[in-house]
Amino acid sequence: MATPPRPGFPARLDLGQGGKPLARAPVRAPAPPGMPTPVTNDSAPQAASMARDPIPARARMVQQLAADGIADPQVLRAMGTVDRHRFVDGALLAQAYEDTALPIGLGQTISKPSVVARMLELLMQGGLRGPDGKLGRVLDIGTGCGYQAVVMGQIASEVYSIERLRDLHEKARANLRPLRIANVHLILGDGMAGFAKGAPYAGIVAAAGGEAVPDAWIEQLGYGGRIVAPVATTPGQQALMVIDKSRQGIQQTLLEAVNFVPLKSGLA
Ligand code: SAH
Repeated sequence: MATPPRPGFPARLDLGQGGKPLARAPVRAPAPPGMPTPVTNDSAPQAASMARDPIPARARMVQQLAADGIADPQVLRAMGTVDRHRFVDGALLAQAYEDTALPIGLGQTISKPSVVARMLELLMQGGLRGPDGKLGRVLDIGTGCGYQAVVMGQIASEVYSIERLRDLHEKARANLRPLRIANVHLILGDGMAGFAKGAPYAGIVAAAGGEAVPDAWIEQLGYGGRIVAPVATTPGQQALMVIDKSRQGIQQTLLEAVNFVPLKSGLA
């Protein structure tokens, strides 16, 4: 799939794992860890300000996430670090930091920032963490454009992200290439079967919803780990399912209604 050149906004990406920052001057001083960048009282419409500089737009997004109840500092920091505008097509740039899902081609969408943050906060609350406070190895089902995989790369030691649509897998590869991220691995495959080579996982997140959580995911989840995934409740309705696995057994918790693209089997 032809991938349009990424927008040339000033960008800030604190990769923190040996990756080269992408910043092109001018770059503002980064916000203190865990804190959104202070926002000036800018009355210009979001689109116009986004076109000038995406950093305040992203800081506003993070402030809104915090106001809406996302409290995990690592999740807020990750959401404030990754350039969402690099993952959406040019015509949608003005909306890159709005709390909305956006088309990424082939009928698929990049999830709303509030949904990404909510799922990753749930994962952090229940997943297995290392001494550095980060999750261990995690599995991301449904790479799409790769945005969520990159956000996960900030809160986990290693990310395996799997996509069944070849064109989107290639698009994500192209999106990630200039970021030079060492800990995010993109796989073309059917995520219904999980990805056994990376198991056991500290956590598994899905951005596509099926009738039930596939057994393979539960098998590949480590003890003490957590799955966060949309599942069908009644026809046409989905809710977020949290599954915690311990040596004593499996605990399932059904949370709020959500609206994800369908989980499909096979490659295409
Ligand atoms: N996290 C993504 C969201 C993409 S939408 C992002 O940040 O852009 C969900 C994706 O799940 C779609 O790209 C869809 O093709 C993919 N998907 C659906 N069923 C799948 C399966 N069985 N295995 C892998 N990916 C799947």
